[in-house]
Amino acid sequence: MVPERDTVVVSYGEVGTKSSKVRGRMERTLVSNLEAMLGSRGVDAEVERQWSRPLIRVQGPESIDAAVDAAADTFGVVAARPAVTCVPERETLVDVLASMADGQRSDESFAVRVSRAGPKDAHDFGSRELERVGGAAIGERTGAPVDLDSPDVTYRVEAREDEAFVSTEVRDGPGGLPLGTQGAAVALVSGGIDSPVAAWEVMKRGCVVVPLYVDLGEFGGPDHEARAVSTMRRLAAFAPGFDVRPRVVSAGDLVAELAAEVGATRMLSLRRTMLRIGETVARDVGAHAVVTGESLGQKSSQTGPNFAVTDAVTSLPVYRPLLTRDKSDIVAQARRIGTYDDSTLPVGCERVAPSRPETNAALADVEAAEPEGLLRRAEEAAADVRTVEFD
Ligand code: ATP
Ligand code: MG
Repeated sequence: MVPERDTVVVSYGEVGTKSSKVRGRMERTLVSNLEAMLGSRGVDAEVERQWSRPLIRVQGPESIDAAVDAAADTFGVVAARPAVTCVPERETLVDVLASMADGQRSDESFAVRVSRAGPKDAHDFGSRELERVGGAAIGERTGAPVDLDSPDVTYRVEAREDEAFVSTEVRDGPGGLPLGTQGAAVALVSGGIDSPVAAWEVMKRGCVVVPLYVDLGEFGGPDHEARAVSTMRRLAAFAPGFDVRPRVVSAGDLVAELAAEVGATRMLSLRRTMLRIGETVARDVGAHAVVTGESLGQKSSQTGPNFAVTDAVTSLPVYRPLLTRDKSDIVAQARRIGTYDDSTLPVGCERVAPSRPETNAALADVEAAEPEGLLRRAEEAAADVRTVEFD
C-alpha cells in the first residue's frame, strides 16, 4: 500500500537569494500568506517554517490535494511537493521508497534523489548510498528501469535531523515574491482581458494591488463595472488577508466632454485622465505606482511616443508588465489564472475612440486640444472614489 502523504514541502525561489535578515522577513510573510490561503479555502492544516522551507502539515489525508493547490496559488512559491514523513533512518527510508513505488508502472523510468541537512553524523546513510539502495529496492519491486538523466518519476528524499520527507509529485507555483513584500500599487482594471493579467503579474512580484475601475458613464455602463468587479474578485482570491477591494471612480462627464470636443488625440486625453485618477487614488491609499494592461503597439494609444504623452501627467512610475507580451500569450495566462471567462462576458458600450486616432502624438498638441481643467477635474472625481464590498 502506498503510504499516506501528510505534509506539503514548499520551496521558494528568489526569497532564498536575499540577505538573512530580508529572507527571514520574507519567509515569515510567505508563511502567513500560506496560512491565509489555506484558511480562505477551508483547508485544515498548519504551516511551519523549518530550515528555510515552509511545511504544510495537513490534518487528514483528504486535505493534501487542496493544500497543494493552495500552495501552488501563493505568490513566492516555486514548487509544492506532497510528501510522506518518516524517521530519517536508512532502513525506514528504503521501506517507504519501496512502498511508494507500488503506484509506479514497470515501463516508467525513475531516479532517486536524496538531499540531507543537519549535522554531519545525523544520518546512518550517505546521500549517494541511499540513492543506490533505495533505487535497487524500487527496481526490485516494480521492474522499472533507472534513468538518472530524464526519469519519468523522481523519488525525492529530503532528510533533516529528526525527520525525512519523501515525495514523487511536484506542482509548480507562480514564483515571484510573497505578496506584501513590495508595497502597493493602484492597478487600472477595465475588466478586459489584459488589465487583470497585468494586475496579477504585479501581485506576483509581491506588490499588493488596489484595483481601480474608472466608470466611463454612457461609454461604459453598469455591466461594464460588474465585469470589472468579477475579474477583481478572481484577483482577490490570490490575496486573502489583504485589502484588494475594488475601487470605482465616476468619470462619465469627463469622457462625454472628451468625446464631444476632442478629435484625433481623444484617446490620449482619456488615458491621461485615467492615469491622473490612478495617481490621485494611489496617493490617497499610500500606493507607489500605477499599473496598466498596455502592451507595446497593441492599440493606437499604446505606441512608444503615446506612452510618453500619457505618462507626462503623473510623477509616479507607470508599471506595464504586459509591455512586451503577445496577445495570444496574455489570453493563455488569463485562462490559467481564471480571469478570462469574466473578461469576455459581453457588455454593451458606446465607442469612445475617434475614427482616426493619433499614434504619434506630440505632448504640446495633446495639451492644446484638451478641455480646460481636465486633469484638475480628474483629481476631483478621484477624491470621490467609492469602495465596493464583495458579497
Ligand atoms: P484591457 O484588455 O485591459 O481592457 P485594452 O487592450 O483593451 O486593455 P485600453 O482599452 O486601451 O486597452 O486600455 C488600456 C489600459 O487602460 C487597460 O489595460 C487598463 O489598465 C486601463 N483601462 C482602460 N479602461 C479602463 C477603465 N474603464 N477603468 C480602469 N482602467 C481602464
Ligand atoms: Mg479594454
